[in-house]
Amino acid sequence: AKAAGGNRYEVADAASDARVIARHSLTNGLPAALEKGEFFIEYQPLVSLEDGSVRGAEALVRWLHPVHGVLGPDQFIALAENTGLIVPLGRWVLTEAARQARAWREAGYDGAPLRVNVNLSPCQLRYPDLVADTVAVLDDAGLDPAALCLEVTENDLIGADEEALRPLRQLADLGVDIALDDFGTGYSNLAYLRRLPVSTLKLDRSFTLGMQRDPADPVDVKIVEGIVSLAHTLDLAVTVEGVETGSQAEHLRLLGCDTAQGWYYARPGPPDRLHQLALTDVAS
Ligand code: C2E
Ligand code: CA
Ligand code: CA
Ligand code: CA
Repeated sequence: AKAAGGNRYEVADAASDARVIARHSLTNGLPAALEKGEFFIEYQPLVSLEDGSVRGAEALVRWLHPVHGVLGPDQFIALAENTGLIVPLGRWVLTEAARQARAWREAGYDGAPLRVNVNLSPCQLRYPDLVADTVAVLDDAGLDPAALCLEVTENDLIGADEEALRPLRQLADLGVDIALDDFGTGYSNLAYLRRLPVSTLKLDRSFTLGMQRDPADPVDVKIVEGIVSLAHTLDLAVTVEGVETGSQAEHLRLLGCDTAQGWYYARPGPPDRLHQLALTDVAS
C-alpha cells in the first residue's frame, strides 16, 4: 500500500510538471499563433424565444494548435490575459467577427439584421484604446454599431467606478449593445445594475440547468422569474445560456426570457452554418 501510495504521488507530480510545461509552452506559443493565423472563430446562434428566429450569434474563439489540436478558450484565454496578448487577440476576434457580421447582413437574409456578440476580457476593458480600436474596426467593416454586442462578465464590472465604466458608456452611446455575461454568478448589488451602461443580462447556465429537469427545480424557476421581472423593470433584455432541451426552452419562454442560446438550437459552428440556420429558422 505504501509503495502504491508512493507511486501515485510520483505520477501526480509528473502530471502536474507536465501541466506546468504545457502551460509555459502554450503561453510562449501564443504570439506566433496569432501571427500564423492559428486562431479561428465558431459562432453559436442567438435565437428569439418569441418566434424562434435567429437574431445573431456569439463569436467563440478556438486555437487550432499544430500539436494539441483544437483548444477551447478555457485552455488559453487566461494565459493570454496574463501576458497581455489578449489585447491583440481580442482585437483580432472583434475584427473577424465584425467582418463576418457584415457578410451575413449582405447575404440577403430577410429577417431582422443579424448581429454578432463578442466577449471582452477585463484587460481589454482597461486598455486605453478600446473605444478608438472598436470604432476603427466597425468603420473598416462598414458595420452599424447596433449590429455589435460586447459581452462583459458581471464579475469584471463589480466595483467599477465611473472612470472605469467610461469606455463602455462611450461605446453604448455610439449604439453598441453591452451585455452583462454570466449574470447571477457575481455578487453585484441589484441597485448597481441601474448605473451600468448595459442593455442585456445574460443569465448564467447554472440558473437554467434546473429547468432541464422534469419537473423543473422550483427554486430555480423562482430565481429566473425574479431576475426577468427585475431586468424588464430596468428595461434590460434577458438572454439565457445553456439551453439544451425543448421543454427547457419552452419554460424559459413562458418565464419571459427574450433570447436563448444553447445546444438545443445549435452548438458553436462555422460562420456559413449560421447563415443556413438563419434562413431556415432553427426552431420552426
Ligand atoms: P461564455 O461567454 O459564457 O460562453 C458560453 C460557453 O458555453 C461557450 O463555451 C459555449 O460553447 C458553451 N455552451 C453553449 N451552449 C451550451 C449548452 O447548451 N450547454 C453547455 N454545457 N455549454 C454550452 P466555450 O466556447 O468553451 O467558451 C468558454 C468561455 O471562453 C466563454 O464563456 C468566454 O468567457 C470565453 N471566450 C470565448 N471566446 C472568447 C473571446 O474571443 N474573448 C474572450 N475574452 N473570451 C472568450
Ligand atoms: Ca459570453
Ligand atoms: Ca456566459
Ligand atoms: Ca460562462
